[in-house]
Amino acid sequence: MSARVISGKEVAEEILSNDLRSRVEKLKGNDIVPKLVVILVGEMKASASYVAQKEKFAGKAGIESEVRRFEDTISEEEILDEINKINSDSSIHGVIVQLPLPKHISVTKVLNSIDPSKDVDGFTPSNVGKLFLGEDTLVSCTPKGIMSILKSADVNLTGMNVTVIGRSNIVGKPVSILCQQQNATVTMCHSKTRDLNAKLADADVIIVAAGVPKFINGDQIPNGAVVVDVGIHNIEGKLCGDVEFKSASKKASAITPVPGGVGPMTVCALIENTIIAAERSS
Ligand code: NAP
Repeated sequence: MSARVISGKEVAEEILSNDLRSRVEKLKGNDIVPKLVVILVGEMKASASYVAQKEKFAGKAGIESEVRRFEDTISEEEILDEINKINSDSSIHGVIVQLPLPKHISVTKVLNSIDPSKDVDGFTPSNVGKLFLGEDTLVSCTPKGIMSILKSADVNLTGMNVTVIGRSNIVGKPVSILCQQQNATVTMCHSKTRDLNAKLADADVIIVAAGVPKFINGDQIPNGAVVVDVGIHNIEGKLCGDVEFKSASKKASAITPVPGGVGPMTVCALIENTIIAAERSS
């Protein structure tokens, strides 16, 4: 068997053309230009590259984006002041803080200071709580992107066994909840899980967010499973995911590649969240 490769890049472009651009035009017709502000602290190469991708996609959607850059010596108080200003600026609809932050700054304090209605990364306790309760909210971008990928691949999760590897606040936990809300039976695995292979054996869908390069290979994947690879690693200048693509694609029925899978969908979800925040502001 050779898996269908689900291109997140193509799905993101389709969402852009079929949905996002027209919503932005409609907002502009009502004199609202959706605007995203990205706070970038320090000079990390990977962060700069992620921010550039967000700016590029924002431009394609026709929304405004602004990157506010700060030295890594900035104090926690100064960042909190900046977020306060953004919270009270009605021309800004969405704000994200590019992570990681320098060690002297509390990520929790900074993220919790964002007005939940502008929290387009969906990280504030209020938005996470609403997601948990199944209420309408700004859903965090990577889980939202994963759900769009599954939808685009016509995967109906009702009754399916979904195994998620990883329980982080930004990927594993929220995507598990979203799959469960779509009537899947979810098994959430982590570093203390006993016999991971047994948890994979009856999976219809496997979502891998372990943060370990090529952690899962074809031998661990049941025939015909759908595999979503969230991981992203730069190994000696070459990008790879948490899944060993070559062997996995011989067993899976569909698989997301790295790069070009979950990454572009995460960016697309961020821009959609900014549009949603702007729509709600009107
Ligand atoms: P994280 O916070 O490091 O969490 C990793 C999770 O995997 C933890 O829950 C950990 O378990 C679990 N894990 C680690 N080793 C394991 C093992 N041997 N067996 C089973 N579970 C194991 O990572 P994250 O932020 O969720 O990100 C995961 C990956 O996705 C990273 O490569 C990251 O770069 C990538 N990512 C990509 C995007 C994108 O847009 N493409 C977005 C976000 C993240 P414990 O909880 O027990 O430690």
